[in-house]
Amino acid sequence: MLMGRRVSGPRGGSCSRRSFLHVLPVALGVSLLTTSCGRVEDASDGSAVGASGASALEGVRVTCIDVGKGDCILLQSGASVVLIDTGYQETADEVLSCLAKRGVGRLDALVLTHYDKDHVGGLRAIAEALEVGAVYLPSYEGADKNYAMTMEAVEDLGLGGERVTAERSLRLGDARLTIYPSGVAYVDDANGDEGNDNDASLVATLTCGDDSYLFAGDLEEDGIDAYLAAGHGHFDVIKMPHHGEKGGNVDELIDSVEPRIALITDSADDPADKKTLKLLKKRDVDTYRTSDCGTIVVEGDGSGGYAVSTER
Ligand SMILES: [Zn+2]
Repeated sequence: MLMGRRVSGPRGGSCSRRSFLHVLPVALGVSLLTTSCGRVEDASDGSAVGASGASALEGVRVTCIDVGKGDCILLQSGASVVLIDTGYQETADEVLSCLAKRGVGRLDALVLTHYDKDHVGGLRAIAEALEVGAVYLPSYEGADKNYAMTMEAVEDLGLGGERVTAERSLRLGDARLTIYPSGVAYVDDANGDEGNDNDASLVATLTCGDDSYLFAGDLEEDGIDAYLAAGHGHFDVIKMPHHGEKGGNVDELIDSVEPRIALITDSADDPADKKTLKLLKKRDVDTYRTSDCGTIVVEGDGSGGYAVSTER
């Protein structure tokens, strides 16, 4: 049982408290982490479902691990565990100790949104340390060394790797994780550089009962346009695209998603754009940044309420 504190403090999200600093109305019957091996089932056909068949949902825990300006997001529901991105090579040890602390000894699936070093850098060390059930990759072939290193690790470690070319739906405990290609074709910039890979990021959504999350990778303007054109609608919690940078259409994204909680994976050295923060504040979205808060944990039990806590 989560022993959170309800706080009716100012909105707009700040991290003045380290523990359970903000709790939206929620029934606090959240199933916490587990140590056993879970599984992720292919749910493309809409087939069901999590283990127990009991009426109460096991809920979801989303942990935005603080890797500075980079992504490494742990999803847990029941015994199932998925990691979205791996942070930097340099932060892999921190990620592994964070996972160990949570009793995670196996990843049912690993989603790599795109091949930038702040998303794939930790892949080799993490996949060497943990058993990884399935790896989902964006469909493009990059031209830079990060792409080459990623594919080398995938090959060396026998990870397989499924390229996501169309919507892919997985059952994660009581939750459904859906992975989408961004809809923007990758274009190499011909300099052996990363091209428009941010816009080619995989996007993921997670739903559990009334709870809903959107993980927007590093989408920039074109990627956000493509996302908006697909008309995915509302999500309560958004992991903001591209570490909170301000694209010309971030306001449209926020208006379309209408989030209640925003998570930003930025760093003190390279913080989120002030304009993005303003847009969120103006819309009364509770905003949590890794630069302020360290690791951010959002828990929900499927009732549409969330408990947010932070850890340094
Ligand atoms: Zn990034």
